[in-house]
Amino acid sequence: MAHKVTLIPGDGVGPEIAQAARRVIDASGTNIEWEVVEAGEALIPQYGTPLPGYVLDSIRRNRVALKGPITTPVGGGFRSVNVTLRQELNLYANVRPARTLPGIVTRYQNVDLVVVRENTEDLYAGIEHRVGTDAAESIKIITRQASERIARFAFELARKQGRKKVTAVHKANIMKLTDGLFLECARKVAREYPDIVFEDMIVDAMCMKLVQAPENYDVLVLPNLYGDIVSDLCAGLVGGLGVAPGANIGHEVAVFEPVHGSAPKHAGKNRINPLAMILSGIMMLQHLGEDEAANRIYEAVLAVLREGKALTYDLGGSAGTSDMADAIISKMQA
Ligand code: NAD
Repeated sequence: MAHKVTLIPGDGVGPEIAQAARRVIDASGTNIEWEVVEAGEALIPQYGTPLPGYVLDSIRRNRVALKGPITTPVGGGFRSVNVTLRQELNLYANVRPARTLPGIVTRYQNVDLVVVRENTEDLYAGIEHRVGTDAAESIKIITRQASERIARFAFELARKQGRKKVTAVHKANIMKLTDGLFLECARKVAREYPDIVFEDMIVDAMCMKLVQAPENYDVLVLPNLYGDIVSDLCAGLVGGLGVAPGANIGHEVAVFEPVHGSAPKHAGKNRINPLAMILSGIMMLQHLGEDEAANRIYEAVLAVLREGKALTYDLGGSAGTSDMADAIISKMQA
């Protein structure tokens, strides 16, 4: 039976990597019926919004989406489509694995951790205003409900993936009430999981420790903003944004997307690394129960990386986006 999946190509480099991922997934032997829907700034003249209702309808109907990045104007303009989508669909958990891959030169070996980022509140709630002309305020929202929910998600993920430790990351020494509540909730939930080691760490110290000895960490659970920043740091530990996949998970639906953005300066040049999107596609297949197809693609990705011939610029090669997709497909067919 075919799985119906919403595909949002996005803008900037989105359409190129979406095309690459779609071809790779289609070649893996799984049966996906893609429903392609567009979102982003280009839709505003026609629909008056970068996120027309049909996008949310399609995701709600199919329950699973693969999404390319969507540009957000800086310092003004419309609200982030990505953030709106996560809030509208209550995609409360953002899961971003960072794992050492063969053939990619980095300073580290044996990194294998998962960043679990709360995805609906914190400073990302977008409640901010100017106070006169010379000041501005942003309100940080942390609730017990969302904090316990994300902590429980992190512990459940640890159990499911056979992981040993959850580290809650915060700044509760300074933000005693907001981050204090997040930490209180994490500690409470931790007591329900005596089989998993629990520790907490202040976010600045966490950053230092991650660049010193990332192999000491397993599952990190963080409020939204720290999760955003620390997950890019973790991407850097294993080869950069080009290889960093992600998933936004809710009770009803799940949207899979790379950690990186629309990288506008590379758009239309067929040079961006499609692996973050392809690895996000693998996470999507696992979510759909298509483990065989997911493994087939993953093994082909590893083979291409080990061989080192069809690598994009960020991994030290000169292959194009489509060349890398072709190489992965031919490994699956070999
Ligand atoms: P970015 O992630 O788009 O790119 C930063 C740099 O990282 C790029 O210039 C490139 O050098 C490198 N890079 C990113 N992805 C790569 C890949 N697949 N292969 C090789 N190199 C890669 O970050 P940015 O420039 O800060 O943001 C651009 C736009 O994307 C902004 O409008 C931002 O709001 C948006 N954004 C969207 C999402 C999303 O859709 N979920 C996420 C992050 C940023």
